[in-house]
Amino acid sequence: MSVSDRLFDSFPDTSLTAQQAALDAIARDLVSDAAGAFGRAPDGRQAAGQARQGAQLDKRGVALTPSAKPEPKAEARGGVVARWKLKHTVAEILRDVTPPGKSTPGVCKCGTAGYQAEAVHLVRRGARAGVKGVYFCDSPWLCPSCAPRRAAERAERVQKVFDATERKGGAVVFLTLTVQHVKGQALADLKKLVMDACTKARQGKPWQLAKERYGITGVMVGPEVTWSPAHGWHFHLHVAVPMLLQGDWSSVVATAEEGGRWIVGRYRDYIERAGGRADDDAQDVQVMWRQEDLADYLAKGSGAWEVASAGATKQGKKGLTPWDLAARASATRYRALFAEYAAVMPGTRSCVITKTLADALGIVPEGDEDAPGVDEAEEDDVEVVGSVEPPRWHRLLRGGHVPAVFQAVEDRRPWEDIDRMMTALLDPPPPSHAPSAWEVAEHAKGTRHMFREAGEAVRAAIDREREQAARLGRHFEPPPLRRVLELVAA
Ligand SMILES: [Zn+2]
Repeated sequence: MSVSDRLFDSFPDTSLTAQQAALDAIARDLVSDAAGAFGRAPDGRQAAGQARQGAQLDKRGVALTPSAKPEPKAEARGGVVARWKLKHTVAEILRDVTPPGKSTPGVCKCGTAGYQAEAVHLVRRGARAGVKGVYFCDSPWLCPSCAPRRAAERAERVQKVFDATERKGGAVVFLTLTVQHVKGQALADLKKLVMDACTKARQGKPWQLAKERYGITGVMVGPEVTWSPAHGWHFHLHVAVPMLLQGDWSSVVATAEEGGRWIVGRYRDYIERAGGRADDDAQDVQVMWRQEDLADYLAKGSGAWEVASAGATKQGKKGLTPWDLAARASATRYRALFAEYAAVMPGTRSCVITKTLADALGIVPEGDEDAPGVDEAEEDDVEVVGSVEPPRWHRLLRGGHVPAVFQAVEDRRPWEDIDRMMTALLDPPPPSHAPSAWEVAEHAKGTRHMFREAGEAVRAAIDREREQAARLGRHFEPPPLRRVLELVAA
């Protein structure tokens, strides 16, 4: 049963507890629905990684990395709904931990009406609900709505570098750089340790020589972070190193791999000099040449797959993603961890095409800056379902009701129903006391001996419930009298 079905079903029963129970059930489902719900193209745009489907047979007939890329999932229902639900949680955590006087991160405003907008338009893009004329924060680290789009942009940049390297003749070496970490270590410290060592590994005379020897054109760095109960924060880097190399393929691969090992060795030295440890077998060097594998691998940081599993992943080897932490934020421990992550990661750039790299490969440099704005672009195939005035929209947003509204839009509820639902969400009817026919009948049966007629016993039982309602300050809804009489007579 869909979210709005359950909401609509619960409204005829005007008791507040029934509504609350329905909303709670929805919230629970949304967290578990989040599994698989995000593994698809971001809002209104095509994920770059999905543009190339199917394993391309390399023209040289060799595949060094088996294609582990799963088929893109069919568009999951409720993806937008679940993302907005998670965004509401994230915004609540961050509002909570922002000191008074300091402004909250952009994700707390993501989805609010654009400046001077007269209305927010609820729309359907295909089967998916959406909204038009709102501010988007563009945060790749904090926003479940915006992160998948940013991940797709990163993937696109990786592909550009890949294509250019391929055109010029060479290979892209893909490194994973990690550091040994224990529970309780601050994320900020681990991040600094790893990032500094990675930077220092690429400085000085030895680096200049290595660049020449291995044809290194530059690097693309993609930071990533997970957390596990046993080992705490796991901050690591995915690094793509395009190398322009001449020769037959097997010698290119051998040289490229050697170059990758050289960088890893130097990275490990700098980790040790800084007092850390980075075991050789915890680092990874792969010469990649299937574009879809690489793009997938490098650009996923806080992007698609991580959002995909929010709240539903087992605490396995990979650990919990930041989205998992947010989804579990009803527990103080996870709330604090997400807050720590949110204090450290935003502003960290990923998969930048630097000027050096661009010049060497004959492409255009591209940064990784957040570009927040208002979503006003003209789109085809957008069906406007209805409009909401900004103050009303903001109350829905702040109250965490947008996911329920979106679900109703996806369920193709008539606008009048959606409108009524929004009113009910914002202004719930007063609680009522509504005993069932069975309850009243049972009581009437218990006191039947005190009355001459069954009807009198029933009336007394109903009066008693009415008094109970008055004592509780609730609106009284009697059960159908006829049904009660039938039950008493039975
Ligand atoms: Zn956003």
